[in-house]
Amino acid sequence: MISAIELAANEFLLGALEKLGHKMGPPIPVEEIATGVLGLKLVEKPLLEDLSGELVFVDKVLVVNRRHTASRRRFTVAHEIGHWVLHVQITGDLVSCGKASNERMEIEANAFAASILMPKRLVYVSLLDALNAGRTDDALGWARIALRRNDDGYLHVFNSLLYRLLLGGEAASAAKRAELVADVVPSLALLFRVSREAMTLRLKKLGLLEGILD
Ligand SMILES: [Zn+2]
Repeated sequence: MISAIELAANEFLLGALEKLGHKMGPPIPVEEIATGVLGLKLVEKPLLEDLSGELVFVDKVLVVNRRHTASRRRFTVAHEIGHWVLHVQITGDLVSCGKASNERMEIEANAFAASILMPKRLVYVSLLDALNAGRTDDALGWARIALRRNDDGYLHVFNSLLYRLLLGGEAASAAKRAELVADVVPSLALLFRVSREAMTLRLKKLGLLEGILD
């Protein structure tokens, strides 16, 4: 099931990359999208620790908390882009993002951010590439074919193939699963320039590595 936010985010991202003349690929240049596509002024400054950023609609200024890590700042930029695209009609002059923020809008902006930083199809392909790295037998060829169908209905095929091929099926130990996650999640996080936590959440949300990430 694909959410409306995911669809809106994907449509926005395709248009933005086309406008910038970039191909779809990680890492997604969210800073360039904010400035070059939306015409926002990107400002990094120290904010209180529990504030991630702010969007001043009327002045088109996107403020990011300089105290936070690079991956978190990128997530904030993507989150504020989400507010700009989704909420410009329904909110006031300023949205301030942190603990005290409007919850529904925050959830929507977070979903939008995850969708543009880690586009579904790119994550599928990158996951498969990461798992295939160093293998000589292309044992994941069948998973690749399942993936090419580009249909959520094939996701369970994709997952069960991964599970069987990589972990040996039902008997896979917790240690083997932990080893796989410890190997793959950081490499994907690095590739997409997001935090490991954000990548783990995204994989779960997409239903990837089901039964392995838990
Ligand atoms: Zn927000």
